[in-house]
Amino acid sequence: MRRGSISPPDMLGELARVYAELDRRLDGFGCDASTDCCHFERTGREPWVTDLEWSLVAKALGRLGGRDAVAAKNRRSLPLVGEGRCPLLDGDGRCSVYEARPLGCRTFFCERVQGPGRVPRDAVRDALREIQTLSERFSPASPTGRPLRQRFEAKR
Ligand code: SF4
Repeated sequence: MRRGSISPPDMLGELARVYAELDRRLDGFGCDASTDCCHFERTGREPWVTDLEWSLVAKALGRLGGRDAVAAKNRRSLPLVGEGRCPLLDGDGRCSVYEARPLGCRTFFCERVQGPGRVPRDAVRDALREIQTLSERFSPASPTGRPLRQRFEAKR
């Protein structure tokens, strides 16, 4: 990772690089796309999203018409709103912002994971460490982030 001054757009580029490297290291792993991990009350786990990661999600949402428009469309497209469904999960059971999804959605933490062996946790830890370092520079006042659904509650 580069040191010294780095602009917000460059940080988003760095974040995309971290995600790409993680995807490369987790190549060959997948799951049955049950979307259980997108229903936070089912798993008892909800991704925490840093401001930096949210900026990338927000860019993707902007291309789709904005955060509130996407959330409203996804709410309408599925009658079931319980189980802590992520506002970004669309009616076809797909992530609206898949390419920009945060780290917590990329780690294959559940028992349904399929792949050539055990998920290399060091790859996840490396990505987390890099994102933490970037986030401390991007948003020094709140580098640790907050639960994903809170991003839909607070106007930013
Ligand atoms: S951001 Fe996408 S992958 Fe992550 S929980 Fe929401 S719908 Fe699922």
